[in-house]
Amino acid sequence: MQQTVLIVEDEAEIARFIQQLLEKEGFTCLHSRDGNDALRQFQTHQPPLIILDWMLPGIDGLEVCTRIRKLAGTHDPYILMLTAKGEEFNRVIGLSTGADDYLVKPFSPMELVARVRALLRRSLRQEAKSQVYRTVHFSVDLDRHIATQQDNGTAKDLDLTAIEFDLLATFLSHPGRAWSRTHLVEKLWGNDFFGEERVVDTHVARLRKKIELDPSHPQFIKTVVGMGYKFEDDA
Ligand code: CA
Repeated sequence: MQQTVLIVEDEAEIARFIQQLLEKEGFTCLHSRDGNDALRQFQTHQPPLIILDWMLPGIDGLEVCTRIRKLAGTHDPYILMLTAKGEEFNRVIGLSTGADDYLVKPFSPMELVARVRALLRRSLRQEAKSQVYRTVHFSVDLDRHIATQQDNGTAKDLDLTAIEFDLLATFLSHPGRAWSRTHLVEKLWGNDFFGEERVVDTHVARLRKKIELDPSHPQFIKTVVGMGYKFEDDA
C-alpha cells in the first residue's frame, strides 16, 4: 500500500508544516502550489490521498476537486479539503464538492494526522471486503466498489464519494436500524476520529441529494430525532 499524499497549498509555510508533520508519521509527500500543477501531479503519481486547499491562485480547490473526480476513472483518490472559511460556508462546501472530508484552518496537527490516517485506512479496509448488500431499490458491491439504484425498473450507477459510499453501505448492511451519530462516525472514520460529530449530517445531506427524489422529504434516509439516522427501503 502506497502512502503518498499530494499537498496542494499555495502558502509555503502551511505546506511545509503539513509536509513535515506527515513525513514524521511516515507518509511520502508531493507538493503543488496551484491547481494546474496539482492536476498534472495527480495524473503522473496517482496518489491515494490529496490534501487540497480551497483558496488557490488560478483554478481553485473546488474546481480541482471537480476535475479530479472527472479524471479519476478507476483510480479515485481520497480528497481532504482545507478551508479558512467559517463553519456555515464550510457546510456549503461540504455539500457541493466531491471532497471526502474537510478541515477548517487553523487545525491542530493531531486533527490533520487523524483524518489522513482514517482516510487511508478506509482504502485498506475496502480491499479486504468482498460482499454485496441489497435492498429493494439499492445494491452496494463492496468488492467492486459499485453502488446502484433501481429507478422504475432501470438500474443506474451512483456517483458517490468514498464516505458517501461507506455511508450507504453501512445503512444497507442493517436496513431499519437506527444509528447514532457517534456510531456512524465510528463506522466511517474509525475510533480515533477527531472533530465535530455533526460532520455526519453533511455527508448524509449529500447522499440524500444523490438518492432521494425530494431530499427535504426523504423516502430512504430518515432522521431519528435526538439520535441520528435510519435507512428504510420497503417496496
Ligand atoms: Ca491558499
